[in-house]
Amino acid sequence: MVDGWTPILTTLKEYLAKKYKGKVVPTHSYKEKWGELVIDFRSGFDGEDMAVADFCEELSTKVCDTCGRPGEPRDLPWIRTLCDECLENHKKGNK
Ligand SMILES: [Zn+2]
Repeated sequence: MVDGWTPILTTLKEYLAKKYKGKVVPTHSYKEKWGELVIDFRSGFDGEDMAVADFCEELSTKVCDTCGRPGEPRDLPWIRTLCDECLENHKKGNK
């Protein structure tokens, strides 16, 4: 990961920046787990932010983590969300 998911993370950042303009923006971290983007808020967030983060996580299971094209979770030795082309590249031994 996570070049393909950068637009999702950017959208989340923009949403927070707009909503909390002039206030403290909730800090968050993210990681990849089982082919899905996982977003953790630390403090200062509300239910709406959680819902937006959930949506981003759900979206990540439909977007290739490498190139950002439509993809789906693939059962490799570990699960990754990839498009057909990146799956082929992965099988050939590239990233
Ligand atoms: Zn791809």
